[in-house]
Amino acid sequence: MREVLRKCAVCGGMKDKKELLRAARTGKSFFIDLSGKGGGRGAYICREGPCRETAKKRRALERSFKSPVPAEIYEKVVSV
Ligand SMILES: [Zn+2]
Repeated sequence: MREVLRKCAVCGGMKDKKELLRAARTGKSFFIDLSGKGGGRGAYICREGPCRETAKKRRALERSFKSPVPAEIYEKVVSV
């Protein structure tokens, strides 16, 4: 099976999709895509290590989505 690598929005590391948390946006709504199958534009964050906390501190998703990201999405990033 071919591994599907995606880039972490925080550290820039390339990882297998299974090792990353996917945040997604469709239109104006943001969600955490736990199945990895949700549509929309996605951004990935390492599940392990400090990237989730760093994403919240630096609001790293705003760069990926090029728009403000609601605080509750960052809460979910660190809590799911
Ligand atoms: Zn990372």
